[in-house]
Amino acid sequence: MGDYLGIDCGVFAAIDIDKRPVFPLLYWGMRAQNHRGHQSHGFLTYDGQFHIHKALDLIPKIKRNEVKSWLVNLPGHIGIANVRYTTSGRTDHESLQRGTQPVTAEKGDIKIAVSFNGNVVNTRQLREEIRKVFPGFHYECDAELICRKLLIELIERKDLVSAVKACMEKIEGAFSVTGITSKGEFFAFKDPYGIRPLCAGHSRDSKVYAFSSESVGLNINDLILDFELEPGELVMASEEGLKREKLVENGKAFCAFEFAYFARPDSRFGDKYVYEVREEFGRNLARENPDIVKDADLIISMPETGNDAAYGLHEETGLRWERATRRHRFVTERAFILLPHERYRTIDKKINILAEKVRGKRVIVIDDSIVRGDTTRVVVEKLRKMGAKKVYVFVTFPRIIGPCFYGIDMATYGELIGSKHSPEEIAKIVGADAVRYQSIESFVRATGMGKDELCLGCITRKYPTPLAQQLADKMYKWFLRGCKETGRIYETADLTETRSLYSKR
Ligand code: SF4
Repeated sequence: MGDYLGIDCGVFAAIDIDKRPVFPLLYWGMRAQNHRGHQSHGFLTYDGQFHIHKALDLIPKIKRNEVKSWLVNLPGHIGIANVRYTTSGRTDHESLQRGTQPVTAEKGDIKIAVSFNGNVVNTRQLREEIRKVFPGFHYECDAELICRKLLIELIERKDLVSAVKACMEKIEGAFSVTGITSKGEFFAFKDPYGIRPLCAGHSRDSKVYAFSSESVGLNINDLILDFELEPGELVMASEEGLKREKLVENGKAFCAFEFAYFARPDSRFGDKYVYEVREEFGRNLARENPDIVKDADLIISMPETGNDAAYGLHEETGLRWERATRRHRFVTERAFILLPHERYRTIDKKINILAEKVRGKRVIVIDDSIVRGDTTRVVVEKLRKMGAKKVYVFVTFPRIIGPCFYGIDMATYGELIGSKHSPEEIAKIVGADAVRYQSIESFVRATGMGKDELCLGCITRKYPTPLAQQLADKMYKWFLRGCKETGRIYETADLTETRSLYSKR
């Protein structure tokens, strides 16, 4: 479970060719993906007009007697939906409300609606461009930028395919987008590097076509997974089925962290389930650390993202995987919403470790990642108090040494324990006998993708997109000089050095 990290969003979208209400599909598609964003949610349906419902927090349970009113309020056979965690824009209560997706934009008789997952890097440049057409434009979130930019291109080019292509060429960042136009065109597209997931599927009778961030959104609706969208690909869904068009060629850089942390274990990327990849992570850690395996008595895992790796580690080593760490199921507070002193206490309250199982034992704790190190420190401390003789920490995601510009909530070098400390130093800081990370090579091999098909930006400081690379390099220099970072630097208006980076493009 590492330190809690937010991802930007999850999306689900569907069209019913027989014109049956699509809201139930959207609802379940999002319920299956609430782990991708819990600060707000929204549904937008289309029956010739847009109908929208947006609210903060998790997607609510709908009582039997409320179903009718939801269907009345959200009629239509096409729809897009979103769950969101804020990685762009402000995070106060009102801004969160205003930043909730899906978003709409209109000019003249053209109107579009968009639900997206990702993060824009050239935010400032786009804001300036958009303000030329929409002078009062108030930036709330990246979805607004994408929606307005798409509308501007659509007005200019009068054709959705060319408008999407222009967006792919002019927006830098990660964006997996689903949308509807006021003409009822239903579409989905991915940025030219395909950084965030987005897959397409259909019903057994081919009457429903859908897009989902993760395949679990299709599974819950009994839809069949067809394919993961390619980078730079636009897919339109209509009575004629799914029409695919590759608009921009640029390579591929799928977020590696999806495999370790974000995605549900039962989601599928490429030809593997995420849990299969995580099991292999565990086997790799065993192969890479024979000295520790030889010394250890048992394995415990951090629930839930460490469980599959623990199974792989157990398989490879024959060491007992003691299921001695359990989550308190209904203690669901997220560490980040609390004050720093509360954060420490709440992490402590979320996991129950069974003392008698670890007392006097040399324990390998397997976890998905170490970001700030808070959680690891608490867990190691707890194990020590319980009498564990030795505590080794195995981490499936390689050491995080750089920020993410593509929608994961780690924006600065300063917040990352791995950006300033070696694994040996981190072990000392968190109180462990050793901290061992999976190597990048083994990690990549386990995913079944090539190194050149993954974004490894935060673990290599080599980013797939040019502005992100320039910002990362510039920020790193500032960081080494001891300058204080200010969060999402690419959104900051008064950084003259950042301005010069834009002008260099
Ligand atoms: S920088 Fe890291 S977290 Fe961000 S998209 Fe790349 S691999 Fe994923």
